[in-house]
Amino acid sequence: MSKTAILIVEDEAIVAADLAGKLRQLGYKVAGITAQGAEAVALAERLSPHLVLMDIQLEGPMDGIETAQAIRDRQDVPVIYLTAHSDAATLSRAKLSGPFGYILKPFDERELATQIELALYKHIAERQLREQREWLRVTLTSIGDAVIATDAAGRISFLNPVAESLTGWKAEEAMDRNIPEVFRIVNEQTGQALEDPVARVLRERCAVALANHTGLVTRDGRTVPIEDSAAPILDAAAKVIGAVLVFHDVTEKRRAENALRASEQRLRWALQGSGGGAWDWDLMRDEGWWSQEMYDLWGVEPGTRMLLKNSLAMVNEQDRERLRRTIEESISRCSDFRCEFRIRHAVRGERWMASYGRTVCDESGRTVHLLGISLDITERKSAETERQKFVSLADQSTEFIGMWDMNFMPFYVNDAGQRLVGLDSLEQACATPVKEFFFPEDQSFIYDEFFPRVLQEGRAEVEIRFRHFKTGERLWMIFNVFYIRDAEGHATGLATVSRNITKRKLAEEALRQSEERLKRSQEIAHLGSWELDLERNELTWSDEVYRIFGLQPQQFAATYEAFLAAVHPDDRLMVNDAYSGSLSANKDNYEVEHRIVRPDGAIRYVHGKCEHHRDGSNKIIRSVGMVHDITEQKQAQEALERSNRELEQFAYVASHDLQEPLRAIVGFLQLLQSRYADQIDEKGRNFIERSVRAGHRMQTLIRELLTLSRVHTKGAVFASTDLNLIVKDVLDNLQSIIQEKNVDITCARLPNLTIDANQIQRLFQNLITNAVRYNENPKPIIDIGCQEHDHAYHFHVKDNGIGISSQFYQRIFKVFQRLHTDREYPGTGLGLALCKKIVERHGGTIWVESQPHAGSTFYFTLPKQRGVS
Ligand code: ADP
Repeated sequence: MSKTAILIVEDEAIVAADLAGKLRQLGYKVAGITAQGAEAVALAERLSPHLVLMDIQLEGPMDGIETAQAIRDRQDVPVIYLTAHSDAATLSRAKLSGPFGYILKPFDERELATQIELALYKHIAERQLREQREWLRVTLTSIGDAVIATDAAGRISFLNPVAESLTGWKAEEAMDRNIPEVFRIVNEQTGQALEDPVARVLRERCAVALANHTGLVTRDGRTVPIEDSAAPILDAAAKVIGAVLVFHDVTEKRRAENALRASEQRLRWALQGSGGGAWDWDLMRDEGWWSQEMYDLWGVEPGTRMLLKNSLAMVNEQDRERLRRTIEESISRCSDFRCEFRIRHAVRGERWMASYGRTVCDESGRTVHLLGISLDITERKSAETERQKFVSLADQSTEFIGMWDMNFMPFYVNDAGQRLVGLDSLEQACATPVKEFFFPEDQSFIYDEFFPRVLQEGRAEVEIRFRHFKTGERLWMIFNVFYIRDAEGHATGLATVSRNITKRKLAEEALRQSEERLKRSQEIAHLGSWELDLERNELTWSDEVYRIFGLQPQQFAATYEAFLAAVHPDDRLMVNDAYSGSLSANKDNYEVEHRIVRPDGAIRYVHGKCEHHRDGSNKIIRSVGMVHDITEQKQAQEALERSNRELEQFAYVASHDLQEPLRAIVGFLQLLQSRYADQIDEKGRNFIERSVRAGHRMQTLIRELLTLSRVHTKGAVFASTDLNLIVKDVLDNLQSIIQEKNVDITCARLPNLTIDANQIQRLFQNLITNAVRYNENPKPIIDIGCQEHDHAYHFHVKDNGIGISSQFYQRIFKVFQRLHTDREYPGTGLGLALCKKIVERHGGTIWVESQPHAGSTFYFTLPKQRGVS
């Protein structure tokens, strides 16, 4: 290392040279020599000597002390004074300038070396001390902790900025104050003042930690939670020279701790509440940690060391493999998992668990921890099973089963319900508010009346229309709603089991309409219906029966006896006989015609029909009947019969009484012709001849009229007759005309029938005569035949004659209706009228099918029922 360089400041040149020589001898380097104070300052600055030897009594404007002061103000270099004598005033001035030593002139070499070395050492030591102090000051000033130092009496000697801001005291204000004035501490929880730790430290001479929950009361009165300690400051002789307090604000730490505690507490509660436990697997070390609850949950002795494999061993065999795979997958993918499985609990037997795992991965993506919670879900599982059972049951039901929350949002609608209202899935059902299923006009009733009633009474029922979700069609339902309550009895939702009664409603509507129609038609037809319950003697009359009987439903207690009382007294016995007779004869039905007397005395004719209904043992329990008011009909029929009788009487009398004079007229005219012909001229004979012809025509007319009028009254008794013989007789009678017109007649085989033979012969005779007469064909053909049908024979007489236009098909069967003049075709116009009457008397009908110039076919039917051979 370089030599110690020394600057000599000496105004006596010889002394300076001597000194320089000595220094060199001692191995020092003389950096420079000067006799001037100002030069010395400049040299010292330029040369940076390690030491300055300074003559105190320097000549010139600056003496040695002033020069030394000036140098030390500029640089840190030790100065040793050289002095020959020492007057007290100079020495005390020199002392103030902080000299590092005095060397008395003349110099002793050894003293010189000792003083120089001592000064250098002292200078280094002083610098180190100064540096250390600075370092300590900077450290204490910049440290995060608050630091307060005191002297042995407990007065503050130092306060760093953190302590300033925590206490609210500035260092200069706090300085020299007693520590309790600035550092006032209390128990955070109770607010009680705590002992001054400094006093304790000074007394006990050892470090003390602050009590828990210490709060520092700041200058402005706030309490700040603090933590830390106080320690004594000892000098070299281990004497206590002060104390140092180191503390820091723990507000944040306390808050974090509190938060952590609260969160742990919450987790604990959550786990307790959920019946769950927490676990953590350190996969690197294959170590497991279980929370207290886990042991209880799995039925394992608390504290047992748990490894993944022992816990898997407790899992039910059916679930074990699945759980293992789930865990392995989660580890290999570093992904979370969730698994439900069963375990065998030592005490509780089989339990359902749900484990939720979360993986913790290192930077390389390897799973290092698996942590999570396990919950006992046995109750939930059994509830789920119950729910599943319920749902499958409900889905089997054909009724509408639905459940809604308190906001009327469905959370379940069974299959039948979905189908009924046109929903495609449960999801759709759950997304559709209940309101959608009601028609707008029903909604105020549903929400303002019906649901409040359900709430009040627990359940209620109403018949209401539902709206089909897709088609908007109306569905009638018995809407039965009740509240779903939880275990505490609070309503949690609503449920319904509703029945589709649309068909019934439609049927009711149809029935109502049909009853209405029946009533109307009964009214129009004057036809009433009644029903008598024999066991209860309850008679039910339709409105029309009341009208026919002229009675008011309110004033009439309908019973069988009351009915009989309304029957005409003369008919009462007969009516009663008919009814009770049918019962005693065990008949199924009967008919009766009788009169009734209305309350106003009017007599009405009715036709009654009755049918009896029986029970399982064939006993008649009910009679159902009809009453037809036939008064008008009866009156018309009677009038008709009366007039017919009178007419027949008249026709008979007239035709019979006309016969006699007519016969005389014709007879005398013929005598006149035969006996007096030669006395009468040609013209006269012609007159007589025409009178005879007219007389004959009149005779025919009268005869036929008489026949016609007697068809009903003078008919013969019906007898089984061979129709072939009848037709044969007719053809025999008509032999001459048939031959004359060269008619070709064919006749099929005819049946035997029970008939009035004379009349049927007349029928055939008229039809065949017409077929011959109204025929201009050079070769007239007539075909007679018959066809057998279910209940009757259909006969025909077909010709190839002049034919009839269809507009006359009806007219020709009426009396005196002819289509031709007498000159064209002579006739009376009575033939077909007589045919019709005869056929009708036999219970048949007659009609014609024909076309002009294409021939005619006359058909008539004769029923079989009066006897077939
Ligand atoms: P009439 O005494 O005039 O024959 P009918 O009652 O027998 O009286 O016949 C009524 C009318 O029906 C006849 O005048 C005739 O014009 C027509 N008529 C009856 N039968 C035939 C037939 N077979 N062909 C064509 N016209 C017929």
